[in-house]
Amino acid sequence: MSFKEIFCQDKVVDILQRAFASGKWAHAYIFAGLEGIGKFKTASEWAKLLLCKKPVIENDFADSCGSCQSCRLFEAGSHPDFNSVYKELREFTKDGKGKPPPVDLPIDVIREFLIAKVSTRPTLSQRKVFVVSEAEKLNASSQNCLLKVLEEPPEYCCIILLCTRLERLLPTTKSRCQTIRFGPIDENRIVEKLSQMGIEEKQAQYFARLAQGSLGAACWWAKLELADADLYETKGKLVSSLVSYEFADALDLAQQILEESKKIAAVWADLDKATSKTDINRRAAKSLVQIIISALHDAMTLNVTPTKEAINFDQKEQIEKLAGRFDTEQSAEKISDCYKILRWIESGVNEKLIFEQLLLNLADSDTMRV
Ligand SMILES: [Zn+2]
Repeated sequence: MSFKEIFCQDKVVDILQRAFASGKWAHAYIFAGLEGIGKFKTASEWAKLLLCKKPVIENDFADSCGSCQSCRLFEAGSHPDFNSVYKELREFTKDGKGKPPPVDLPIDVIREFLIAKVSTRPTLSQRKVFVVSEAEKLNASSQNCLLKVLEEPPEYCCIILLCTRLERLLPTTKSRCQTIRFGPIDENRIVEKLSQMGIEEKQAQYFARLAQGSLGAACWWAKLELADADLYETKGKLVSSLVSYEFADALDLAQQILEESKKIAAVWADLDKATSKTDINRRAAKSLVQIIISALHDAMTLNVTPTKEAINFDQKEQIEKLAGRFDTEQSAEKISDCYKILRWIESGVNEKLIFEQLLLNLADSDTMRV
Protein backbone atom coordinates (compact mmCIF):
# COMPACT_ATOMS: atom_id res chain seq x y z
CA MET A 1 0.00 0.00 0.00
CA SER A 2 1.11 3.58 -0.56
CA PHE A 3 0.07 7.08 0.41
CA LYS A 4 -1.92 7.46 -2.82
CA GLU A 5 -4.16 4.57 -1.89
CA ILE A 6 -5.50 6.11 1.32
CA PHE A 7 -9.26 5.79 0.90
CA CYS A 8 -11.45 8.91 0.83
CA GLN A 9 -9.44 11.11 3.19
CA ASP A 10 -8.32 13.70 0.65
CA LYS A 11 -8.25 16.65 3.08
CA VAL A 12 -6.06 14.79 5.54
CA VAL A 13 -3.73 13.63 2.78
CA ASP A 14 -3.49 17.21 1.56
CA ILE A 15 -2.54 18.55 5.03
CA LEU A 16 0.19 15.92 5.42
CA GLN A 17 1.48 16.44 1.88
CA ARG A 18 1.83 20.16 2.44
CA ALA A 19 3.61 19.55 5.76
CA PHE A 20 6.02 17.13 4.07
CA ALA A 21 6.72 19.51 1.19
CA SER A 22 7.48 22.40 3.54
CA GLY A 23 9.54 20.20 5.87
CA LYS A 24 7.54 21.66 8.75
CA TRP A 25 5.63 18.60 9.90
CA ALA A 26 4.48 18.45 13.50
CA HIS A 27 6.35 16.24 15.94
CA ALA A 28 3.14 15.36 17.75
CA TYR A 29 -0.18 14.77 16.02
CA ILE A 30 -3.65 13.72 17.08
CA PHE A 31 -5.53 11.92 14.33
CA ALA A 32 -9.15 12.27 15.45
CA GLY A 33 -12.28 10.63 14.11
CA LEU A 34 -14.56 7.61 14.17
CA GLU A 35 -13.24 4.10 14.48
CA GLY A 36 -12.58 2.51 11.11
CA ILE A 37 -12.09 5.56 8.89
CA GLY A 38 -8.45 5.07 8.09
CA LYS A 39 -6.57 6.75 10.95
CA PHE A 40 -4.16 3.88 11.47
CA LYS A 41 -3.66 3.31 7.74
CA THR A 42 -2.91 7.00 7.20
CA ALA A 43 -0.55 7.09 10.18
CA SER A 44 1.28 4.02 8.80
CA GLU A 45 1.64 5.52 5.34
CA TRP A 46 2.82 8.80 6.83
CA ALA A 47 5.35 6.88 8.92
CA LYS A 48 6.51 4.91 5.89
CA LEU A 49 7.03 8.15 3.98
CA LEU A 50 8.90 9.82 6.85
CA LEU A 51 11.14 6.77 7.20
CA CYS A 52 11.72 6.11 3.47
CA LYS A 53 15.26 6.71 2.27
CA LYS A 54 14.29 7.84 -1.24
CA PRO A 55 10.80 9.36 -1.26
CA VAL A 56 9.35 9.75 -4.73
CA ILE A 57 7.85 13.12 -5.62
CA GLU A 58 5.58 13.29 -8.65
CA ASN A 59 3.32 16.28 -9.46
CA ASP A 60 3.95 17.68 -5.99
CA PHE A 61 2.77 14.44 -4.37
CA ALA A 62 5.29 12.70 -2.14
CA ASP A 63 5.15 8.97 -1.56
CA SER A 64 7.40 6.29 -0.12
CA CYS A 65 9.46 4.49 -2.78
CA GLY A 66 8.40 0.98 -1.77
CA SER A 67 11.80 -0.50 -2.59
CA CYS A 68 14.49 0.94 -0.29
CA GLN A 69 15.60 -1.04 2.74
CA SER A 70 13.40 1.07 5.00
CA CYS A 71 10.28 0.50 2.89
CA ARG A 72 10.96 -3.22 2.66
CA LEU A 73 11.40 -3.60 6.40
CA PHE A 74 8.34 -1.45 6.99
CA GLU A 75 6.21 -3.67 4.77
CA ALA A 76 7.56 -6.76 6.52
CA GLY A 77 6.43 -5.26 9.83
CA SER A 78 9.93 -5.16 11.27
CA HIS A 79 11.14 -1.60 10.88
CA PRO A 80 13.24 -0.76 13.95
CA ASP A 81 12.23 2.92 13.90
CA PHE A 82 8.49 2.36 13.65
CA ASN A 83 6.70 1.79 16.93
CA SER A 84 3.07 0.83 17.15
CA VAL A 85 1.89 1.32 20.73
CA TYR A 86 -1.36 -0.34 21.85
CA LYS A 87 -2.89 -1.51 25.08
CA GLU A 88 -2.32 -5.24 24.56
CA LEU A 89 1.44 -4.62 24.77
CA ARG A 90 0.99 -4.72 28.53
CA GLU A 91 1.63 -8.44 28.39
CA PHE A 92 5.17 -7.65 27.24
CA THR A 93 5.93 -5.04 29.91
CA LYS A 94 8.18 -5.86 32.85
CA ASP A 95 5.35 -6.77 35.24
CA GLY A 96 2.64 -7.52 32.70
CA LYS A 97 3.00 -11.24 32.13
CA GLY A 98 -0.20 -13.19 32.71
CA LYS A 99 -2.36 -10.12 33.36
CA PRO A 100 -5.74 -10.00 31.55
CA PRO A 101 -6.10 -7.65 28.53
CA PRO A 102 -6.45 -4.12 29.92
CA VAL A 103 -9.46 -1.83 29.44
CA ASP A 104 -7.38 1.37 29.61
CA LEU A 105 -4.09 2.06 27.89
CA PRO A 106 -1.77 1.32 30.82
CA ILE A 107 0.93 3.69 31.95
CA ASP A 108 3.51 0.86 31.87
CA VAL A 109 2.97 0.47 28.12
CA ILE A 110 3.48 4.20 27.59
CA ARG A 111 6.62 4.21 29.75
CA GLU A 112 8.27 1.13 28.27
CA PHE A 113 7.16 1.31 24.62
CA LEU A 114 7.18 5.05 24.06
CA ILE A 115 8.97 7.21 26.62
CA ALA A 116 11.92 4.87 27.08
CA LYS A 117 12.37 4.55 23.31
CA VAL A 118 11.95 8.19 22.31
CA SER A 119 15.35 9.24 23.61
CA THR A 120 17.40 6.69 21.66
CA ARG A 121 18.30 7.78 18.14
CA PRO A 122 16.83 6.05 15.08
CA THR A 123 18.88 3.09 13.92
CA LEU A 124 18.00 2.73 10.24
CA SER A 125 16.16 5.81 9.03
CA GLN A 126 16.68 9.43 9.91
CA ARG A 127 13.46 9.52 11.85
CA LYS A 128 11.49 7.56 14.35
CA VAL A 129 7.69 7.27 14.39
CA PHE A 130 5.35 6.24 17.24
CA VAL A 131 1.68 5.52 16.59
CA VAL A 132 -0.46 5.22 19.72
CA SER A 133 -3.77 3.42 19.03
CA GLU A 134 -6.91 4.10 21.10
CA ALA A 135 -5.44 7.20 22.71
CA GLU A 136 -8.90 7.95 24.14
CA LYS A 137 -8.09 5.13 26.58
CA LEU A 138 -5.08 6.91 28.02
CA ASN A 139 -5.98 7.70 31.60
CA ALA A 140 -4.92 10.95 33.25
CA SER A 141 -1.69 9.56 34.70
CA SER A 142 -0.64 8.06 31.34
CA GLN A 143 -1.36 11.40 29.67
CA ASN A 144 0.59 13.31 32.31
CA CYS A 145 3.44 10.92 31.85
CA LEU A 146 3.39 11.67 28.10
CA LEU A 147 3.31 15.45 28.43
CA LYS A 148 7.01 16.13 28.56
CA VAL A 149 7.69 14.03 25.47
CA LEU A 150 4.84 15.68 23.60
CA GLU A 151 6.13 19.09 24.55
CA GLU A 152 9.69 18.61 23.45
CA PRO A 153 10.03 15.54 21.30
CA PRO A 154 13.54 15.01 19.88
CA GLU A 155 13.70 16.55 16.37
CA TYR A 156 13.83 13.11 14.74
CA CYS A 157 10.56 11.97 16.38
CA CYS A 158 6.99 11.98 15.18
CA ILE A 159 4.37 10.83 17.69
CA ILE A 160 0.82 10.23 16.46
CA LEU A 161 -2.07 9.68 18.85
CA LEU A 162 -5.09 8.01 17.22
CA CYS A 163 -8.25 9.04 19.00
CA THR A 164 -11.98 8.40 18.57
CA ARG A 165 -13.06 10.70 21.40
CA LEU A 166 -11.18 13.98 21.63
CA GLU A 167 -13.01 15.01 24.80
CA ARG A 168 -11.18 12.20 26.61
CA LEU A 169 -7.81 13.89 26.08
CA LEU A 170 -6.65 16.48 28.59
CA PRO A 171 -6.41 20.08 27.32
CA THR A 172 -2.69 19.91 28.10
CA THR A 173 -2.31 16.89 25.79
CA LYS A 174 -4.33 18.52 23.01
CA SER A 175 -2.46 21.81 23.18
CA ARG A 176 0.85 20.06 22.56
CA CYS A 177 -0.29 18.29 19.39
CA GLN A 178 -1.57 19.27 15.98
CA THR A 179 -5.04 17.79 15.61
CA ILE A 180 -6.07 16.45 12.22
CA ARG A 181 -9.72 15.51 11.90
CA PHE A 182 -10.81 12.57 9.77
CA GLY A 183 -14.28 12.96 8.26
CA PRO A 184 -16.80 10.12 7.80
CA ILE A 185 -16.54 8.24 4.51
CA ASP A 186 -19.29 8.75 1.94
CA GLU A 187 -22.03 6.11 2.10
CA ASN A 188 -21.93 5.36 -1.65
CA ARG A 189 -18.20 4.65 -1.52
CA ILE A 190 -18.78 2.20 1.36
CA VAL A 191 -21.61 0.46 -0.56
CA GLU A 192 -19.28 0.18 -3.55
CA LYS A 193 -16.56 -1.39 -1.43
CA LEU A 194 -18.94 -3.89 0.23
CA SER A 195 -20.40 -4.87 -3.15
CA GLN A 196 -16.88 -5.57 -4.40
CA MET A 197 -16.45 -7.87 -1.40
CA GLY A 198 -19.50 -9.86 -2.57
CA ILE A 199 -22.25 -8.48 -0.32
CA GLU A 200 -25.65 -8.15 -1.98
CA GLU A 201 -26.96 -4.64 -2.56
CA LYS A 202 -29.65 -4.38 0.12
CA GLN A 203 -27.32 -5.64 2.83
CA ALA A 204 -24.46 -3.46 1.62
CA GLN A 205 -26.72 -0.42 1.78
CA TYR A 206 -27.86 -1.31 5.29
CA PHE A 207 -24.35 -1.96 6.65
CA ALA A 208 -23.11 1.27 5.05
CA ARG A 209 -25.86 3.28 6.74
CA LEU A 210 -25.38 1.55 10.07
CA ALA A 211 -21.65 2.27 9.91
CA GLN A 212 -22.26 6.04 9.54
CA GLY A 213 -19.07 6.71 7.67
CA SER A 214 -16.87 4.08 9.27
CA LEU A 215 -15.57 1.97 6.41
CA GLY A 216 -13.74 -0.27 8.89
CA ALA A 217 -16.91 -1.13 10.82
CA ALA A 218 -18.86 -1.77 7.60
CA CYS A 219 -16.11 -4.04 6.26
CA TRP A 220 -16.05 -6.09 9.45
CA TRP A 221 -19.82 -6.59 9.33
CA ALA A 222 -19.52 -7.56 5.67
CA LYS A 223 -16.78 -10.07 6.47
CA LEU A 224 -18.93 -11.53 9.26
CA GLU A 225 -21.82 -11.84 6.84
CA LEU A 226 -19.64 -13.64 4.31
CA ALA A 227 -18.43 -15.96 7.08
CA ASP A 228 -22.04 -16.92 7.94
CA ALA A 229 -22.37 -15.08 11.24
CA ASP A 230 -25.93 -14.17 10.10
CA LEU A 231 -25.65 -10.62 11.39
CA TYR A 232 -28.13 -9.28 8.83
CA GLU A 233 -30.70 -11.92 9.68
CA THR A 234 -30.19 -11.24 13.38
CA LYS A 235 -30.75 -7.53 12.86
CA GLY A 236 -34.01 -8.29 11.04
CA LYS A 237 -35.27 -10.37 13.97
CA LEU A 238 -34.00 -7.92 16.55
CA VAL A 239 -35.75 -4.91 15.00
CA SER A 240 -38.98 -6.92 14.72
CA SER A 241 -38.84 -7.96 18.37
CA LEU A 242 -38.32 -4.37 19.52
CA VAL A 243 -41.73 -3.55 18.08
CA SER A 244 -43.71 -6.03 20.08
CA TYR A 245 -41.94 -7.40 23.12
CA GLU A 246 -43.25 -6.59 26.59
CA PHE A 247 -41.56 -6.02 29.92
CA ALA A 248 -42.20 -9.66 30.90
CA ASP A 249 -40.31 -10.89 27.80
CA ALA A 250 -37.28 -8.69 28.41
CA LEU A 251 -35.08 -11.29 30.10
CA ASP A 252 -35.82 -13.95 27.48
CA LEU A 253 -35.03 -11.55 24.68
CA ALA A 254 -31.86 -10.45 26.48
CA GLN A 255 -30.79 -14.09 26.66
CA GLN A 256 -31.39 -14.52 22.91
CA ILE A 257 -29.38 -11.41 22.10
CA LEU A 258 -26.59 -12.59 24.37
CA GLU A 259 -26.46 -15.87 22.45
CA GLU A 260 -26.41 -14.07 19.10
CA SER A 261 -23.65 -11.86 20.42
CA LYS A 262 -21.61 -14.93 21.40
CA LYS A 263 -22.18 -16.51 18.00
CA ILE A 264 -21.04 -13.35 16.19
CA ALA A 265 -18.02 -13.04 18.48
CA ALA A 266 -16.98 -16.64 17.76
CA VAL A 267 -16.97 -16.03 13.98
CA TRP A 268 -15.25 -12.67 14.52
CA ALA A 269 -12.51 -14.25 16.61
CA ASP A 270 -11.76 -16.64 13.75
CA LEU A 271 -11.48 -13.75 11.31
CA ASP A 272 -9.40 -11.50 13.55
CA LYS A 273 -6.73 -13.35 15.45
CA ALA A 274 -4.81 -10.16 16.27
CA THR A 275 -7.47 -8.78 18.60
CA SER A 276 -8.05 -10.12 22.12
CA LYS A 277 -11.17 -12.22 22.78
CA THR A 278 -12.37 -9.66 25.31
CA ASP A 279 -12.26 -6.89 22.73
CA ILE A 280 -13.99 -9.04 20.13
CA ASN A 281 -16.79 -9.86 22.61
CA ARG A 282 -17.17 -6.14 23.23
CA ARG A 283 -17.29 -5.36 19.52
CA ALA A 284 -19.96 -8.00 18.92
CA ALA A 285 -22.07 -6.69 21.80
CA LYS A 286 -21.57 -3.11 20.63
CA SER A 287 -22.68 -4.01 17.10
CA LEU A 288 -25.98 -5.36 18.45
CA VAL A 289 -26.55 -2.28 20.59
CA GLN A 290 -25.81 -0.13 17.52
CA ILE A 291 -28.51 -2.05 15.63
CA ILE A 292 -30.99 -1.25 18.41
CA ILE A 293 -29.92 2.41 18.39
CA SER A 294 -30.38 2.55 14.61
CA ALA A 295 -33.97 1.29 14.89
CA LEU A 296 -34.80 3.76 17.67
CA HIS A 297 -33.15 6.52 15.71
CA ASP A 298 -35.23 5.68 12.65
CA ALA A 299 -38.41 5.67 14.74
CA MET A 300 -37.52 9.06 16.21
CA THR A 301 -36.68 10.51 12.81
CA LEU A 302 -39.94 9.21 11.35
CA ASN A 303 -41.86 11.12 14.03
CA VAL A 304 -39.93 14.34 13.41
CA THR A 305 -38.93 14.40 9.72
CA PRO A 306 -40.76 11.57 7.96
CA THR A 307 -39.07 12.26 4.63
CA LYS A 308 -35.55 11.41 5.79
CA GLU A 309 -34.12 8.08 4.57
CA ALA A 310 -34.02 5.45 7.27
CA ILE A 311 -31.05 3.25 8.19
CA ASN A 312 -33.50 0.35 8.37
CA PHE A 313 -35.05 1.22 4.99
CA ASP A 314 -35.54 -2.52 4.52
CA GLN A 315 -37.91 -2.80 7.52
CA LYS A 316 -40.20 0.13 6.92
CA GLU A 317 -43.27 -1.44 8.44
CA GLN A 318 -41.52 -2.35 11.69
CA ILE A 319 -40.03 1.12 12.00
CA GLU A 320 -43.49 2.65 11.56
CA LYS A 321 -44.81 0.43 14.34
CA LEU A 322 -41.85 1.29 16.55
CA ALA A 323 -42.52 4.99 15.93
CA GLY A 324 -46.08 4.33 17.07
CA ARG A 325 -44.83 2.59 20.20
CA PHE A 326 -42.36 5.28 21.27
CA ASP A 327 -42.94 8.99 20.74
CA THR A 328 -40.03 11.31 19.94
CA GLU A 329 -39.16 12.00 23.56
CA GLN A 330 -39.26 8.34 24.55
CA SER A 331 -37.11 7.34 21.58
CA ALA A 332 -34.58 10.03 22.47
CA GLU A 333 -34.43 8.83 26.10
CA LYS A 334 -34.01 5.24 25.04
CA ILE A 335 -31.27 6.15 22.60
CA SER A 336 -29.49 7.95 25.40
CA ASP A 337 -29.85 4.81 27.60
CA CYS A 338 -28.32 2.76 24.79
CA TYR A 339 -25.31 5.07 24.68
CA LYS A 340 -24.86 4.57 28.43
CA ILE A 341 -24.94 0.83 27.79
CA LEU A 342 -22.25 1.24 25.11
CA ARG A 343 -20.06 2.90 27.74
CA TRP A 344 -20.75 0.02 30.14
CA ILE A 345 -19.59 -2.40 27.48
CA GLU A 346 -16.39 -0.37 27.08
CA SER A 347 -15.74 -0.48 30.80
CA GLY A 348 -16.05 -4.25 30.93
CA VAL A 349 -19.42 -4.77 32.68
CA ASN A 350 -20.78 -8.33 32.38
CA GLU A 351 -22.59 -8.75 29.05
CA LYS A 352 -25.56 -10.71 30.40
CA LEU A 353 -26.27 -7.89 32.82
CA ILE A 354 -25.86 -5.34 30.07
CA PHE A 355 -28.40 -6.89 27.72
CA GLU A 356 -30.87 -7.49 30.55
CA GLN A 357 -30.64 -3.89 31.68
CA LEU A 358 -30.91 -2.66 28.11
CA LEU A 359 -34.03 -4.67 27.31
CA LEU A 360 -35.72 -3.83 30.62
CA ASN A 361 -35.06 -0.15 29.96
CA LEU A 362 -36.46 -0.35 26.47
CA ALA A 363 -39.66 -2.11 27.53
CA ASP A 364 -40.48 0.26 30.31
CA SER A 365 -40.41 4.00 30.35
CA ASP A 366 -40.82 4.72 34.06
CA THR A 367 -38.90 2.15 36.06
CA MET A 368 -35.52 0.44 36.01
CA ARG A 369 -33.70 3.42 34.52
CA VAL A 370 -29.96 3.15 34.00
ZN1 LIG B 1 11.59 3.80 0.44
